This record gives sequence, C-alpha cells and structure tokens, in this order.
Amino acid sequence: MNRPLVSYPPMAISEPGAHILIIPYPAQGHMIPLLDLTHQLALRNLIITIVVTPNNLHYLNPLLIRHPSIQPLVLPFPAAAAAAALPAGIENIRDLPFGSSRLFTMVLADLYDPIVNWFQNHPSPPVAVVSDIFLGWTNMLANELKISRYVFSPSGALALSIVYNLWQYMPKRNDVTDKNEVIKFLEVPNSPSFPWWKISPVFRNYVAGDPQYEVFKDSFQGNISSWGLVINSLSELELVYLDYLKEFLGHDRVWEVGPLLPPKEEQVKRGGLSENLAAEMESWLDQFEDSSVVYVCFGSQAVLRNKQMEMVALGLEKSGIRFLWSYKDPTEEELLENYGTMPLWLKDRVEQRGYIVKGWVPQVSILSHRGIGAFFTHCGWNSVLESITAGVPMLTWPMGADQFANADLMDELKVGTRVCEGDKMVPESVGVEQGITK
Ligand code: UDP
Repeated sequence: MNRPLVSYPPMAISEPGAHILIIPYPAQGHMIPLLDLTHQLALRNLIITIVVTPNNLHYLNPLLIRHPSIQPLVLPFPAAAAAAALPAGIENIRDLPFGSSRLFTMVLADLYDPIVNWFQNHPSPPVAVVSDIFLGWTNMLANELKISRYVFSPSGALALSIVYNLWQYMPKRNDVTDKNEVIKFLEVPNSPSFPWWKISPVFRNYVAGDPQYEVFKDSFQGNISSWGLVINSLSELELVYLDYLKEFLGHDRVWEVGPLLPPKEEQVKRGGLSENLAAEMESWLDQFEDSSVVYVCFGSQAVLRNKQMEMVALGLEKSGIRFLWSYKDPTEEELLENYGTMPLWLKDRVEQRGYIVKGWVPQVSILSHRGIGAFFTHCGWNSVLESITAGVPMLTWPMGADQFANADLMDELKVGTRVCEGDKMVPESVGVEQGITK
C-alpha cells in the first residue's frame, strides 16, 4: 500500500460545528471512557459520528438519547477470512473466548475500507478522527483521508510511557529463559523497572512477521506518529509522566482529559445494567455505617481461576468484614476450564454480610456510596481513577496489561496496598484477609 507516512495537522476541530469521527475499541474499559469523552465533546457543539458494529450499538444508547445529534455509523462486523476463526456474533472483547483478542484486534482493521467509502460519499466529512489506542491503523486512515488523528488512551501516562518505549525501542532480554529478568526504563521519570513476566504479553510474545503481532507493532508505531494524544489522566496525578510523553513525542499536543466519568444521572446506566438491581444494591449499602464495606471487582475482562475465587472468598469470610463482590459472568468454555465459579458455600456462610453479583454493577455509583471503605481491584486504569475520585483506598491485585504500572503508581501515591500480583498467582486467603482488615 502506498500511503503517506506523515500526520496531517488539524483543521478547525475547535470550531463549534466541526465534524469529528470517533472510533472506539469494543472493550468496556476502552469504550466507556471514550463515550464519556464524546459526551463532553457533544456538549461543546461538535458534530459527531461514532463508528460501531451492530452488536455494540446498545452500549451507545444512553449517549444517543442524551445527544440525538450524534450519528452512529453502524458498519457490519468484518467478514474477512480471519474473522471466520472468531465465534459468530461476538463483537466485543467482553464476550470473547480465551486467547482470541489479538485476532479480534487484527480483524477490526478491516473496517478501514468501509470507513473510507463512507467518508468519500459524505457531503460534509469529518475534519478529525479520535480513535482508541488499539486502533493504530486509524492513523494511516487519517493520513489517507488528509485529516488529523488524535489517539485516545484509556491508559494512564506512566503506563503509556512504558508501552510507547517498548514498541519504539523494542528492548530484548539477555537471557530468553529468564522470566524474572528486569527491564529498566531509564528514560522514563523515576526509572520504572519490571520483571519480564510483567511486561505486556503482546510485546513479550511478539513474533516478527506474524500478522497478529505485526498489527500491534504497526498500531503502536501509528499511535506514536499521530497528530495528537488525548489521555484519560490528570496532571495532579501524573504530571511528570505527561511531561515525559510530550518530550518523547516531540510535541505538546497532549491533552489530559481525566478523570472521565459519566454524568451523575447516567452512572447506573453506564456499561449496561437494570436500574432495579442498582437500586437494590444501593439500599443494601444504605443500611451500613460509613466506610464499612469492601467493594471487590476485577474489571470487565478478568475471570479468576476457581482456586483464586476460593481464596478471595475465604479471605472475605475470615475477615468478618462486609463486602460487595461483582464478578464477570463466565462463558461455558471458562467454566469447563475451571475458571469463574463462585464458591457455593460463601453466600451461606456470610449471609447478610456479603452481596454477590454475577455480571455488571454500576461501579462509579457504588464507589461514591458513603458505605464503601475500600476497593479490592485489579488496577484497571478506569477503576483506579474512579476509586481515587471517590476517595476510596485500594487493595491491589494487578493481573496483566498496564495494571502493574498502575499498581506501582498507587503505591507511590500511598493509596494502594498490594495483596497479590499476576493472573496466575493464587493469593493466600490469609493475605487477602489481612489486606481487607488493614
Ligand atoms: N465496570 C462497571 N461494572 C462492573 C465492572 C466494570 O461499571 O461490574 C466498569 C468500571 O467502572 C470501569 C470499566 O468497567 O469503568 C473497567 O475498566 P478498567 O480499566 O478498570 O478495567 P478493564 O475492564 O479494562 O480490565
């Protein structure tokens, strides 16, 4: 493909009435903050089109109801040969079986031509595109369309500094058998370092020439050369890392827009939930004194092994403390592989002291309830920001992706207590109990 490599400068995106194209990555932790940002942009009178595939359209409902001027551009989920390896009808990371997220990300790049086609037939096409960090191919798209691309990062500035360094400098291990070999990021403020096993698995397992990995490499290199960066962070939390990113990118077009949160009246609808269940949880929490309940949730994607579920349950039971535990509804495949089963004994033993939800809870509104005193979290960046905003200290169990960097930052800021690390580790129930009690 003979496509331009330069990034195009912005056309009047700040003008009211400018048309912009938003392209979310279909995973809850990515989509939710970008939709919150879109709400903010719509309040500023921009004309907005959002790219979505049919089975994700319902996630946009609260936004579309609030801003009827926003146009969804509903494109069929790509039907390329590679897509045939994905289960039919699955269009969101939340519903994907194990191990197919790389393929899924690669398949999404096939939205390229339909978007070009739409753009070329639009009487007043967008002047800029704001697209998720996992959609680096949209940089090439923006260049072809001669419009500017703003990368949206749902990750924080420390985590992004690490991942940009990885894909830019491609560091290698001295000993390929040593999972504990430490990789140092000397250029990044405070010189963070991580053992190899904590490095992003996509980078760790990168195989040159394999299309599923090359798409990530191209994607991050496309991100780095994009016109601007919009990041869900704030200088009060990450000033040194935000400054570093500007230095790394060689320009100042970095906007920190966090913490991105839904409007108050939409907190319970965010991500999809029945309002009855939300009201039920709230009245359960209302019974208790301030800061007396631990909220437990490991985000929208992580499904614990049964042994891990057991240890968390034992820790909660032994601590004697009230808790609200939301866990992801496992797929049949996950259940067969011994993942995601809630120990049956827990409910009987803790009775009214525990509230267990399989599926989705309105996290932002729960965290802001006066009854919540701590959050046992996997340190997804949205969860971390939501907890800090609500003034709730964290018990941390980073499991993968950017979560190790996020947990380190929470240690640095003295708002987190580490309970466990890594998606394979089974925590000691006593460690969980002590963390909760503390
Ligand atoms: N979330 C929620 N209810 C749930 C689980 C998750 O509202 O039951 C939201 C949470 O508030 C956050 C997002 O889903 O905004 C999860 O993003 P995060 O970055 O914390 O973790 P990820 O799911 O990407 O691992």
